[in-house]
Amino acid sequence: MILDGKQTSEKVLAMVQEKVAAMEIKPHLVVILVGDNPASKIYVRNKQKAALKVGIQSTVIEMPSETAEEELLNTIEELNNDINVTGILVQLPLPKHIDKNKVITKISPLKDVDGFTPENVGRLAIGLEPYFYPATPQGIIMLLDEYNIPIEGADAVVIGRSNIVGKPMTQMLLKRNATVTTCHSYTSNIEDKIKTADIVISAVGKKIVRCKMVKKNSVVVDVGIFKDENGQLTGDVDFDLVSKSAGFISPVPGGVGPMTIASLMFNASKIYQ
Ligand code: NAP
Repeated sequence: MILDGKQTSEKVLAMVQEKVAAMEIKPHLVVILVGDNPASKIYVRNKQKAALKVGIQSTVIEMPSETAEEELLNTIEELNNDINVTGILVQLPLPKHIDKNKVITKISPLKDVDGFTPENVGRLAIGLEPYFYPATPQGIIMLLDEYNIPIEGADAVVIGRSNIVGKPMTQMLLKRNATVTTCHSYTSNIEDKIKTADIVISAVGKKIVRCKMVKKNSVVVDVGIFKDENGQLTGDVDFDLVSKSAGFISPVPGGVGPMTIASLMFNASKIYQ
């Protein structure tokens, strides 16, 4: 069975739209884009489109690639203090001369719609409710819940340990009482680990889940999205092979991608001030 991220994301967006329509004070998301990375421009445009669709006001601040770190930090400080701004998102990656962690740390945790600040990451890690969960893992949990996939007690394998997907995914599955194995580039025998998992979530950016023998009726979520040797968009999972054994599988495109945007809009609709 296909985990349909497109259809599920429409449901989430409709729910957010309804919530925003009923809000007296509307949320206002500010996205900061530094430089002219073409992929980042597309991501920002998609976020703006989604915001417009659900009635969230959005503003994009474009800054040139040579922007000084100090200037970016000052801009964030102003947005932190602006009561008309309810969400701040700095599009990554940033130019090399800017320290990403300094920038993320500067964002107010109450406006951190990406859920990347140390306070929100720390709250998740110690079992407190973060103000915002990172969009991609939150979107994946929403997708699993939509299909009533049991998480509690499940053996889950997360492949990848990035701050934006792998690590928060592991934390969120632990929070839901799954038993989680987190794999990375130093992990041995990944295939054996995949074969015994009830839930496999792959966030690598390489064709890594090839084995036919994923556990029968297991759930396979493909986060990866990259271009193959023919320039075609593809995911981490060999869909044709793996779908023969899996019970549920998410496609690329149309799986995690749309859920990430919907989940971000869910976050952007929250107002904490
Ligand atoms: P990342 O920061 O590059 O992290 C990749 C992770 O994969 C790292 O933890 C790395 O291990 C691990 N890895 C690399 N080679 C491996 C191997 N051979 N075996 C096992 N693990 C390996 O990437 P990311 O930002 O998490 O993104 C991962 C993928 O998801 C990318 O394709 C990205 O485009 C996609 N993505 C999609 C969405 C969406 O909404 N659809 C959102 C975010 C990301 P080490 O830590 O040891 O280096």
